[in-house]
Amino acid sequence: MELQELRSFIRGLPKAELHLHIEGTLEADMIFALAERNKVRLPYADIESLKRAYQFTNLQSFLDLYYAGAAVLQTEQDFHDMTWAYLQRAAADGVVHTEIMFDPQTHTSRGVVIETVFAGLASALRQGQQELGISSSLIFSFLRHLSEAEAFATLEQALPLREQYADLWLSVGLDSSEKGNPPEKFQKVFARCKELGFRRVAHAGEEGPASYVRDALDLLQAERIDHGVRSEEDPALMQHLRQEQVPLTVCPLSNLKLCVVTDLKQHNLKRMLEQGLCVTVNSDDPAYFGGYILDNYMAVAQALDLSREQLVQLAQNSMNARF
Ligand SMILES: [Zn+2]
Repeated sequence: MELQELRSFIRGLPKAELHLHIEGTLEADMIFALAERNKVRLPYADIESLKRAYQFTNLQSFLDLYYAGAAVLQTEQDFHDMTWAYLQRAAADGVVHTEIMFDPQTHTSRGVVIETVFAGLASALRQGQQELGISSSLIFSFLRHLSEAEAFATLEQALPLREQYADLWLSVGLDSSEKGNPPEKFQKVFARCKELGFRRVAHAGEEGPASYVRDALDLLQAERIDHGVRSEEDPALMQHLRQEQVPLTVCPLSNLKLCVVTDLKQHNLKRMLEQGLCVTVNSDDPAYFGGYILDNYMAVAQALDLSREQLVQLAQNSMNARF
């Protein structure tokens, strides 16, 4: 009963989800359904054997599977269906606003044209606004394991679509393998995006050091940091994050599943919240990490014994951190 109460309390808080990779919402059954629809051969016999592969040891072990799963996305309808399924789940969790990341390069490198990707995502997001009352925008994310020249090429490909999707495409981001791919690698393309008027976010301080968080702020002019949990290693950085109220989009179940923490009881989310940082809770790649946003709130509420005030604060932070 008490858990049920907690769940409905959190569900009732108006929340924004700000760190969500739409390709990471592909549930195993949808991967199989789309594979069948598109005649894509999967290296897994059935849903169960795919799910058994969800035992990750670090970020890279997850990314390998994630890119394999995304290969079933071929048509505008596929991108629409994936996004629509996410929006329905988000609405059920009490999400009123979402800023979703997508990886154009994951699709263009397979021969899916950028127009198809935008069209499918946008039609679902516009339907979500009308039918579910969820407002949304898109974060066009560069894959950091690829080169900056490739990021520039992808941006150039997409820019002609900007006007058509001006209501949705507000920002750019940086994701994929963090270690060995520091923010400085993408300094020029982020400067260009700033010039073009895009808002900017970047993954930093998940597996990479606190200096990557600082560099994302200084060199990429990032306005939000995705993850950022390792910021704690640098007290001066922590002070800066607090003073400037730089939002951190923390993803507790992701951190657990990818072994950033070994136990949620050791997660620093509560400490950072108590220090006055603008911490938010998000689901990252929910189909792979065992839970959507409400599950993430529930997990930290229980593991860290968060008060109702703290839960309200987390939801409030997410609304304040919207673009
Ligand atoms: Zn992420």
